[in-house]
Amino acid sequence: MILPIRNTDGGYAVGIDLGGTTVTASAVSHDGNILSRIEYPSLAKEGMEATCRQIADAADKAVKDAGLRKRDVIACGMGTPGVFDAPTGEMYFVPNFREWDGKNLYEALAAHSPYKYYIGNDVNAAAFGEYFYGAGKESRAMVMFTMGTGIGSGVIIDGKPLRGVFASPEMGHIVISENGPKCVCGARGCLEAFCGRDAITARCREKLEAGRASAVSELDMDRLTPRDIDIYAERGDELCLEVLRETGYYMGLGVANAINIFNPDLIVIGGGVGQSETLFEALKKTAFETAIPSLSEKCSLIQSPLDNMAGVMGAAGLAYRGEYA
Ligand SMILES: [Zn+2]
Repeated sequence: MILPIRNTDGGYAVGIDLGGTTVTASAVSHDGNILSRIEYPSLAKEGMEATCRQIADAADKAVKDAGLRKRDVIACGMGTPGVFDAPTGEMYFVPNFREWDGKNLYEALAAHSPYKYYIGNDVNAAAFGEYFYGAGKESRAMVMFTMGTGIGSGVIIDGKPLRGVFASPEMGHIVISENGPKCVCGARGCLEAFCGRDAITARCREKLEAGRASAVSELDMDRLTPRDIDIYAERGDELCLEVLRETGYYMGLGVANAINIFNPDLIVIGGGVGQSETLFEALKKTAFETAIPSLSEKCSLIQSPLDNMAGVMGAAGLAYRGEYA
């Protein structure tokens, strides 16, 4: 079942991606053209009022820069981090925006912005972007993972973002190892505890501390990023290749779980380090070796084609569809 786009009367949507440091807003046409792109600091530490003002200003500027007027805008869509009740806007747990807990995001936005907002979990919104504008157009059951500071996940079934009672699937917290490393959620052995940004850089440092040689040791180890590791891996650095292959192996276990649970026809891997070829090859191998063969045979596994624009495009898609995620 592919749901129709609602009647937009030729109007435009604004897609907004709210992150811990930046709010990105773009006016996006119905057929997926990005007409403007605004990035403002999200002022996460300054409270909900300050952040909502930034969101409203970024949306206004995105409309203006696209050469549009307020009345051309049918709605804004927004992806936001954290756990919250999408239809009501009640916030439960929002890392980096801690003072948001228990507050209502729709009410706070209404005080600063004239537009109607459709809000979704950021990764569900990005998944919706891949579905609506990217590789998932023909997909009936699609899963997206984003690899960043944490491991996010979103699921689109029959064209609709999947939510439980209120939250979207948190597959970054699938436990893949008993007594594994401690995770930010409090459990041990979560996928995120093996494949999140800090886990990847810690794996690299451990190998160096064990006496292994690598050119990556010329960098400041306190500021090491997965992207650095990927750059050295591309130059053929054996230790960095190993770090990414191991990360890909663990990530592949998580992806295999997703294949077995959701029986998807498409899995999209997004986020910075998700673009690493070395990591992705290892991930693919493990996922297909581990998942139930009849399910994995029907599943394509790709790297995100929209990459860092999936969030704003998906948010615009939510606005066009009048959908929460
Ligand atoms: Zn966890």
